[in-house]
Amino acid sequence: MTTKAIRRSQPIVPQPCDKERQYLINRCKKLAGKKIVIKYGGAALEHEDLKRPTLLDVALLKEAGAIVVLVHGGSRHLSQEMAKKGLAVKMINGLRNTSFETVDIARKVFGQLNTEIVELLDAAGAAPIGLKGEESDIIRAKAKDFDLYGYVGDVQKVKVEVLSKLLKQNRLPVISGLGIDENGQTLNINLDTVAAAIAGALSAEKFVLITDVDGILLDVTDSSTRMSLLNREQLKSLQSSNMVANGMLPKVEACLSAMAQGVKETYIISCRQPHALITELLGETQYGTHIVW
Ligand code: ADP
Ligand code: MG
Repeated sequence: MTTKAIRRSQPIVPQPCDKERQYLINRCKKLAGKKIVIKYGGAALEHEDLKRPTLLDVALLKEAGAIVVLVHGGSRHLSQEMAKKGLAVKMINGLRNTSFETVDIARKVFGQLNTEIVELLDAAGAAPIGLKGEESDIIRAKAKDFDLYGYVGDVQKVKVEVLSKLLKQNRLPVISGLGIDENGQTLNINLDTVAAAIAGALSAEKFVLITDVDGILLDVTDSSTRMSLLNREQLKSLQSSNMVANGMLPKVEACLSAMAQGVKETYIISCRQPHALITELLGETQYGTHIVW
């Protein structure tokens, strides 16, 4: 046996004890063969200590046989990096006004996060492969309204061929969600929107948004007001209410958009609760909002 093979069988990331791990994998076998697109959001990524447990759950899903794609951004890290350079964050209609300099910082920050996520998933044995949306030409985008937003785009097309090929090879694509236009210009796109487009293009069965609140709340300051189960019609009516605002609005839109493209179930969950990703996907809605047709 080679040294590499020995390393692979002894993961360096602390695992749940063998019994618990096996118990979780057995339970996740219900999800074997299901295509699941997961967006790991900027708010969740800000919780350093929760990265390992969250990514371990992703790895367990894959080990149980689910077909997983992870999409991530890094909005909070980007804001911090901009502040260090004395650049103000200007949000217009919920989108970040993006200068040429900001695009450059985003590429760097998202790239670093991509490497880190890939390393953690690799250590957990998930066979990840890092893909930068703007480099691998997966996310084709078109500038939205340059005068208003700068280098912000709308998704035009997701090139699924590369992703499908990797999934067939049992890899776990980890995509950092910047787009690229026909001239090779990198564009910043809301990550909920990008992830929904990827879920739709891949005909995923399930689409999960991991954030740092327990799903859609009636009162943002009170987790006990969580809406645990909604159907599409109920979600649509929330979209036009003033109950959902700021960062939650693009999530509601993303869930509706994914479902309009055939995704059967969507979830908005918190990174704060242990194993929320697994338990919510198994239908025990305790820490998030589960949306069904
Ligand atoms: P992410 O980085 O995961 O996209 P965002 O900060 O963009 O996170 O979006 C999540 C935020 O949306 C929450 O932290 C919360 O402040 C806000 N929000 C607005 N309305 C609601 C609501 N009804 N329920 C839950 N969160 C809401
Ligand atoms: Mg957001």
